[in-house]
Order: sequence, then C-alpha cells, then structure tokens
Amino acid sequence: MKTIGILTSGGDAPGMNAAIRAVVRSAIYYGCKVYGINRGYKGLLEEDLMEMNLSSVGDIIHRGGTMLKSSRCEEFKTEEGRKLGVKVLKKYGIDCLVVIGGDGSFNGAKKLSEMGFPAIGIPGTIDNDLEYTDYTIGFDTAMNTVIDAIGKIRDTSSSHERVNIVEVMGRNCGDLALYAGIAGGAETIIVPEVDVKLDEIALRLKTTQKRGKRHSIIVMAEGVEKVGSASDLKKVLTEQAGADVRVTVLGHVQRGGSPTAFDRILASRFGYRAVELLLEGKSSRVVGIKDNKIIDLDIQEALAMPKTFNRELYEMAKVLSI
Ligand code: ATP
Repeated sequence: MKTIGILTSGGDAPGMNAAIRAVVRSAIYYGCKVYGINRGYKGLLEEDLMEMNLSSVGDIIHRGGTMLKSSRCEEFKTEEGRKLGVKVLKKYGIDCLVVIGGDGSFNGAKKLSEMGFPAIGIPGTIDNDLEYTDYTIGFDTAMNTVIDAIGKIRDTSSSHERVNIVEVMGRNCGDLALYAGIAGGAETIIVPEVDVKLDEIALRLKTTQKRGKRHSIIVMAEGVEKVGSASDLKKVLTEQAGADVRVTVLGHVQRGGSPTAFDRILASRFGYRAVELLLEGKSSRVVGIKDNKIIDLDIQEALAMPKTFNRELYEMAKVLSI
C-alpha cells in the first residue's frame, strides 16, 4: 500500500480544492493512505500535516482557495531545507508526493525527484504560463472573474464616456489579459509578449474617438514593464487624446471565487491521473491537458519549454476591436 502526501504551493488558484479532492478520493479508492500537508513546503518543513479520509474532502469541490493553505518557502530552495523535507516525509511513511502549484512549485518537486523521492506535479495557477499544458487549474475561473469585472466597468465607462484601463494578473504571461480581453470586447489589449508604444495606443484611441466612440476599455497585463505602467498609459492618453481615464487594478479578486465547471472538471481529471501515475510507479512527471486529452511528461522537460503566445488570437482581437 502506498502512502501519498499532497500539498498546494505558490499562488492559490480556484479549483485547487477540486484537485485535492480528486487525489484523496482516487488514492483511497485504490487502497492508499493520504496525508494532507498544510501551507505547502513550509508546512512540510514544520511537520504540519494530517491524515485525510473521504470526508476530509467533502463539500470542497465548489470552494475557491485551497483547504490545505498555500505559501512560499525560501528554505525549501536550499539543499538542507529539502533534506529536512524528505526526512519529514519518510518519518510519516509517505513514499510519494503530489504537488499542486505553478512552475516554482514544480521546481521543488523536480528537486525532490532528483533526490530519489517520487513526486508528481499538477498545474494550479491562474497565470496559464506553462507551455506543456493548454490550461492550468484556475485560469478559466480567473478569466471569467475578469470578464465579469470588465462588464461592470463597461457600464460606468459608457455612462461617463471614459477610458478605463483594467490591469489584470498573469505575471509575465499575457494569456489572462488576451482571453479576457477578447471575451470582454476590450478595445485594446496590452500583453508582455507584444511590444507596443504608448503613443500608438493614444493614436488608436484618437482614431476611434473621431468616429464617435466615446468610451473604451483597455485590458493591460500586469507584466508589461517594457510598455510602461497603467499610470504611465493614463498620463499619455490624457495628454495626447484628451481622454478622461480611470485605472482599475483588479488584484487578488482574480485569485478567488468558486471554480467554474471547466476548472472543477480539469482539476478532477488531473488529480485522478496523478494518482494513476503514482500507482504505475511513475515519478518526476507533471500532468496536463492537450487537445482535451490528459497527458503527462517529465517535469524537467515541461519546465524547459518556453511559453509561447497565441499571436494569431492577438491579431484577431485587434481586427475585432477596430
Ligand atoms: P505561482 O506562479 O502561481 O505563484 P509558483 O508555484 O510558481 O506559483 P513560486 O513562488 O514560484 O510559485 O514557488 C512556490 C514555492 O516553490 C517556493 O516558495 C519554494 O518553496 C518552491 N520553489 C520554487 N523554486 C524552487 C526551486 N528552484 N527549488 C526548490 N523549491 C522551489
């Protein structure tokens, strides 16, 4: 009988609970014992863990956040920290670990595997910044949260004939801005992957103003340092296009909320597959989805893949927002 440990690490994402539930239920179904480790790698080092049963994960599939809590842990980046982690895992008879998180958390799982401790990664991040998988858990929910916010901002933007800049999360990845921008009918989408000048955006705004468009939504990804900040853009649009501009930074609201059906199903499929992989004796793998098929590949290989940007969709968005 295997004993599986499970933790959530890094930024939380809606749907992590559904993944925990899937891992715990699948593991118990197949006769394994499961330990839930609180607060990610930090909780592991502090021996903050408990055995889980079927009802530990009851009533959580629809809840945002993570019942296991999450954190960042600098100590786990050190060899001594990881050695202590393995010692704790062994103390509780845990022989493999499921890590739900983003690329940083996967790096931790990779290092554990290199030390001979089997680990499997499940992608949980609203950023959708992992190339090997079409979607990460939480992205769809976050996207819908942004779309909902854009809809509300659009109402007031229209009443006051304003330009509203909506800053969204995503770190260095523009997926959240791109997809939410398209679905929310944004006039302009600014992402880290495409270099644009603030003057060009002002010129574009002036052109649309000339043809009578009096309000506008600009979706801006948080990681666009090269282009400038939202307040830089506000300044340029005010000065060059005479616009009445407001900035809304959506912030952490994007990380919360009940997961969408898409995220719940994705998380359930990932969790189930992760347990299957462990039972097949596989390790150092990550699960993902490609063309609606659940896949798995080597962690190192997955982490080495540079994230590509869907330029075709971006160009389409530009055409649709003229
Ligand atoms: P997100 O990007 O959505 O916030 P993430 O998993 O990428 O999620 P990070 O803060 O990058 O978040 O990483 C989470 C934790 O994973 C870190 O606090 C650390 O404990 C562990 N970790 C990150 N990088 C490494 C590494 N190179 N070696 C060991 N552990 C690591």
